[in-house]
Amino acid sequence: MNSVLLYFLFSFIGLLANGDNNDSLTKLKEEILELQKRIDNLEKFHKKYPRVKYLSINEQRRILVTGGAGFVGSHLVDRLMRDGHRVTVVDNFFTGSKANIEQWFGHPNFELINHDIVNSLFIEVDEIYHLASPASPPHYMFNAIKTIKTNTLGTINMLGLARRVKAKLLFTSTSEVYGDPEVHPQPETYWGNVNPIGPRACYDESKRVAEAMCFAYARQEKIQVRIARIFNTYGPRMNLNDGRVISNFIIQSLRKQNLTLYGNGNQTRSFQYIDDLVNGLVALMNSNYSKPVNLGNPDEFTIRDTALLIRDVVGNSNEVVVKEKMEDDPQRRKPDITVAKRELNWEPKTRLREGLMKTIDYFRSEVDKNDNSENLHTFYYLNSKDELDEIINSDKIEL
Ligand code: NAD
Ligand code: UDP
Repeated sequence: MNSVLLYFLFSFIGLLANGDNNDSLTKLKEEILELQKRIDNLEKFHKKYPRVKYLSINEQRRILVTGGAGFVGSHLVDRLMRDGHRVTVVDNFFTGSKANIEQWFGHPNFELINHDIVNSLFIEVDEIYHLASPASPPHYMFNAIKTIKTNTLGTINMLGLARRVKAKLLFTSTSEVYGDPEVHPQPETYWGNVNPIGPRACYDESKRVAEAMCFAYARQEKIQVRIARIFNTYGPRMNLNDGRVISNFIIQSLRKQNLTLYGNGNQTRSFQYIDDLVNGLVALMNSNYSKPVNLGNPDEFTIRDTALLIRDVVGNSNEVVVKEKMEDDPQRRKPDITVAKRELNWEPKTRLREGLMKTIDYFRSEVDKNDNSENLHTFYYLNSKDELDEIINSDKIEL
């Protein structure tokens, strides 16, 4: 409201005034002045956004990121927004959180849709980064049927959308498609060793069928698809309640608790820092390569050594305790990244210790916030197979 309008409003009120209601008019004027002050304050407030590149209409793409409020998705959204594109996030907040993307709320290039991809979605986009799916074993086992629906029905919905609007679709598959591998390191040509009825099958097999769907749509409907087989990734914004090894060991170290090794700790993983993965995803989307590509860091560590390294970087000397081994736990995992190097000119740059330092800084402040809050977040560590069965059989599950 500007001052000219106010002047007329006051004059109008003045005309109506008579001796009996002078007091109430004065009160009304005061209230209007108070409201005017509040409006002025609101108009002064401009949210500061991270800097975004200016792109012309021809250069700017409309990009959908499913699962964009999750760990990987939110970092990808930051990158795409900074690059100047228009980004729509679709998420049902099962494991993601608004806090991961709040830096973009209100930005004209950004939109957030609270939606479950198991149901159809009708929007207009040029590219789809399809990430929505729980990723950590406790989360995907928590509701195995929902995980299967998300990766099958959800992926069909996204492929259907891609077909309708002629968008390019990148699907985030996983190293889990190799199961407990008999070939080491794993190249994309290896077909895997997956138990189709084990506790991990809801994730592994639904990701495998989603890859099959992408290829069926590419062959039959001429959709442009990209498939990233992501190996274990870590970094800031991992869900504190995630249950994956890096977040568990960091939180346990920060809280001076025992570090929980599932099994003897001789099983291996190769850990990739989030920034490297985001570079790989964008390079893959922009490439002309349509077969699956491994994105991971080939530096391989035993889980025991990972525990010792994290303990060392945090600077505590907590005990490492051995717990029951997880069923069907892959014993060795390391990506062969020849294809990514050749086709995308991509390879990871961040060494584990360096990435851990940044991740630990993030967790330190989150754990402090959490521990000082009145609504304590309960972290869970899967300490035994019984605990896993308890989660799977929990009657809280909604299908
Ligand atoms: P995350 O759990 O942090 O993020 C997943 C996001 O998807 C969350 O925001 C969640 O709320 C959302 N989501 C889940 N089901 C949904 C549904 N039905 N509808 C809408 N949104 C839904 O996991 P992440 O680590 O960010 O993983 C992202 C993707 O990368 C997943 O597809 C995962 O399989 C894949 N991946 C990740 C890793 C890793 O190490 N982080 C490894 C291999 C593959
Ligand atoms: N793990 C562990 N302690 C934990 C969490 C995980 O020893 O607190 C082990 C787990 O059994 C597996 C490895 O660490 O061998 C990686 O587990 P994560 O859940 O991070 O990912 P996965 O690669 O199994 O999907």
